[in-house]
Amino acid sequence: MAKKKTTKKTKTAKAVAPRKSTPVRKKVSFQSPRGMHDLLPEDWRILNKLYSKAAEILEFYGFSRIETPIAEEKELFVRTVGEHTDLVEKEMYSLKSRGREDLVLRPEVTAPVVRSYMEHGMHRLPQPVKLYYFSQVFRYEKPQAGRQRQFWQIGAEILGGESDPVYDTQMILICYKLMEELKLGNVMVGINSIGGTNDRQNYKKKLVDYYKKHSKEICKDCQRRIKTNPLRVLDCKVKGCQPIKENAPIILDNLTSASKAHFKQVLEFLEEAGVPYALRPNLVRGLDYYNRTVFEIFVVREEGDELALLGGGRYDYLAEQLGGRPTPGIGAAIGVERVVNAIKEKNPDFGVPRGRKEVYLVHVGQLAKKRSLSLLEEFRAGGLKVLSNLGKTSLSAQLEAANKAEAPLALILGQKEVFEESIIIRDMKSGAQETVPLEKAVREVKKRL
Ligand code: AMP
Repeated sequence: MAKKKTTKKTKTAKAVAPRKSTPVRKKVSFQSPRGMHDLLPEDWRILNKLYSKAAEILEFYGFSRIETPIAEEKELFVRTVGEHTDLVEKEMYSLKSRGREDLVLRPEVTAPVVRSYMEHGMHRLPQPVKLYYFSQVFRYEKPQAGRQRQFWQIGAEILGGESDPVYDTQMILICYKLMEELKLGNVMVGINSIGGTNDRQNYKKKLVDYYKKHSKEICKDCQRRIKTNPLRVLDCKVKGCQPIKENAPIILDNLTSASKAHFKQVLEFLEEAGVPYALRPNLVRGLDYYNRTVFEIFVVREEGDELALLGGGRYDYLAEQLGGRPTPGIGAAIGVERVVNAIKEKNPDFGVPRGRKEVYLVHVGQLAKKRSLSLLEEFRAGGLKVLSNLGKTSLSAQLEAANKAEAPLALILGQKEVFEESIIIRDMKSGAQETVPLEKAVREVKKRL
């Protein structure tokens, strides 16, 4: 039986007399949350084309689409991305739900895809399994140009099989070709190897020893990073830290011969595939799950600075971190908004439908409006692209709309035409008009386009 609630009057309860309620001021206007934005029709013109281009390339290379839930258990990222990474420590959105699960909005998609691979027994499929996704991710970052709190990634993962350098190269090649075909200007691949767990352990020690000698000269963030996640000091952009970073030990000099051989082959394959790259000894990518090859593709902007459009790397131990069997993996994630911005800047006609051939259905009168509803369906079945605005009434307004839409032909349906089962085809340029039987309309229109 439910316990009866007793309200015990305490001193404090008495003291805290209910305040006079101040009227809650209603918000007068709303905006999208900070760092999150609307994707408008003009963005989707580009996005749709970008997605279809990415899908076309990825499917050619044998990738299939996957989508995972927007939320995952927090532990999934703690174990793989790493407890002491900014992503996990500072940037995750936790969900308050009614259940006891500790859910977060996904801050990245690789760990969820590996989770899904394991959960669905994909190791039983022919290996490697190649998957791609178009997913939204959430990071509580300080919003600025090119950095949102909600953004899209087009990602690809090659899972299972061998940890063969050829897959590293293929992943980089696919990303590079996509960026190249988008005509974004000067794009380049930056690449590095961070070795295996042991190489990294040794290197971290050297790095920490070196940075400890400079602890008074480095920024607060670096002082923290050197204790929690030492490799991250190599990401530091603070001016004062640069000379120290430049003279720091290099991870490539600290690789085992197996890691070196792997990296050498990746580079040889890249040369063979004609993919230009630059070695980036400071490129470490902050997530714990990476090993060996890490890479980014940048666009070099007019101001000379570089903007990362995508990043990726090998993660041969991620599945094991989740309690699974050894499953090599390599993947990449493209920052969609950054690519869309670069497209807008460098390739503004991208996604603009070329040689539009839509015709415009103009109706005059109530009867024609009614008939237009089924007529549009008949046109659709006949494979005609037809624009219309059935809410408009005046003939001139509809013809003006047809003009604006650059429709080459208008199909005019009035009361007389409805009775006679015919329609007028008007050439919008010359103004010439011809009446044809409705049943022949699709054929007659197609003839004229
Ligand atoms: P990451 O998952 O951090 O490797 O990021 C992969 C790509 O996503 C980056 O190269 C960026 O293009 C993009 N990206 C990362 N963080 C953000 C963000 N906060 N806002 C917009 N794009 C981002």
